[in-house]
Amino acid sequence: MPGTDVPLRILVAGGSIGGLSAGVALHGAGFDVQVHERHPCPMETRGAGIVVQGELLQLLRENGAPPLSTTSCSIRRYLEADGGDGQVQRAPQAFTSWEAIYGTLRATFPADRYHMGSELSDFEEHASGPPISAGGEGQSRIKADLLVCADGAQSASRRRLLPDVTSSYAGYVAWRGTLNEADAPANLVRFFDDTFTFCEARSGGHILVYVIPGGGADTTPGTRRLNWVWYVTADATERDRLLVDRDGRSHHASLGQDEVPAATIGALVERAGREVHPMLAELVAATSEPFLQTIVDVVIPHMVFGRTCLLGDAAFVVRPHTAGASAKAARDASVLASALKRARHNVDAGLGSFEALQLEYGRAMSDYGIALGRRWAA
Ligand SMILES: Cc1cc2nc3c(=O)[nH]c(=O)nc-3n(C[C@H](O)[C@H](O)[C@H](O)COP(=O)(O)OP(=O)(O)OC[C@H]3O[C@@H](n4cnc5c(N)ncnc54)[C@H](O)[C@@H]3O)c2cc1C
Repeated sequence: MPGTDVPLRILVAGGSIGGLSAGVALHGAGFDVQVHERHPCPMETRGAGIVVQGELLQLLRENGAPPLSTTSCSIRRYLEADGGDGQVQRAPQAFTSWEAIYGTLRATFPADRYHMGSELSDFEEHASGPPISAGGEGQSRIKADLLVCADGAQSASRRRLLPDVTSSYAGYVAWRGTLNEADAPANLVRFFDDTFTFCEARSGGHILVYVIPGGGADTTPGTRRLNWVWYVTADATERDRLLVDRDGRSHHASLGQDEVPAATIGALVERAGREVHPMLAELVAATSEPFLQTIVDVVIPHMVFGRTCLLGDAAFVVRPHTAGASAKAARDASVLASALKRARHNVDAGLGSFEALQLEYGRAMSDYGIALGRRWAA
């Protein structure tokens, strides 16, 4: 345990939105934080959309972040599968992209504390000296006062700490796609601009569309992207069939933008033509590389294990209907930082109050996502 003037040394495993949020909040609270991301270079993605939530904006604001690139709409619209216009209501909403959030968090967190190509796959508690050490293959072990595991939905840390917790398949998948405005037919851009559009598919499930920042988080009209998500029911056999990539390999949870076989995309486009509003079917058909995510629930009974804690998707995996996974990661991070700061040198008390608050929050988010799924997805 460090002396009273020495800031707590904190290691974060995982440098995506959860790990970076933890880094930003804990660094802002005065702790000595190092974030380790196993990916060897800055993460790139063609960036799907994320609905902007207050928790993330608050974390950014409180820690002096540059402005987050956002797009916005003024109208929410419910189209009908047979081509009808459906209901329209005024409902202003801001959107961003994974890429924009990642870039903003990276710009806020000190670069010399972000270590790429560094996997913390093994950790151990110690009875004397620094209470925790962590390391990875070919790496010397690093000692610290606390390890924060932000290693995502497939978290190996969670599997090790909570071997009985499993993810439960929700019975449907999300097809997602992004289409550069510049590559989209002008009628599609005009039709979807300034709206958050929903449509219930004929056989259940729904599809939604909104406009997000484009490459480099650019929000100039003409450089943005149309972003869509379509929830489609799939029993376990169908899910496993969908998770086979272009090279015939089976995946566990998702297929990326360049992995979906042409025949699977063809079937999706054909299904869209039968099932959803014609403009949405046209959007699906115009998207060259849709990608797939299976929808699962992960609910955990604890977030703190001695001097190790779980955060973001490594803790609870909530359904995307909540539009809240990034916001949850940001809130986990802010609550952890303020609980540790308030508890001063009583780290265990700080971790205890973090867990009490965020366990309840995680469970409530999970329940909310399941309820929304019942209403919308099946
Ligand atoms: C590249 C990428 C793109 C994404 N795009 C979207 C999107 O467009 N829309 C959306 O809603 N959500 C997206 N997500 C998911 C979204 O980031 C999360 O749901 C949410 O923000 C919570 O994130 P997380 O940091 O807890 O988990 P994740 O985002 O899954 O991040 C976990 C990170 O931990 C790293 N990691 C795993 N094990 C170790 C280890 N042992 N040591 C060090 N590092 C490790 C992984 O490489 C990964 O970067 C994306 C995630 C990633 C990684």
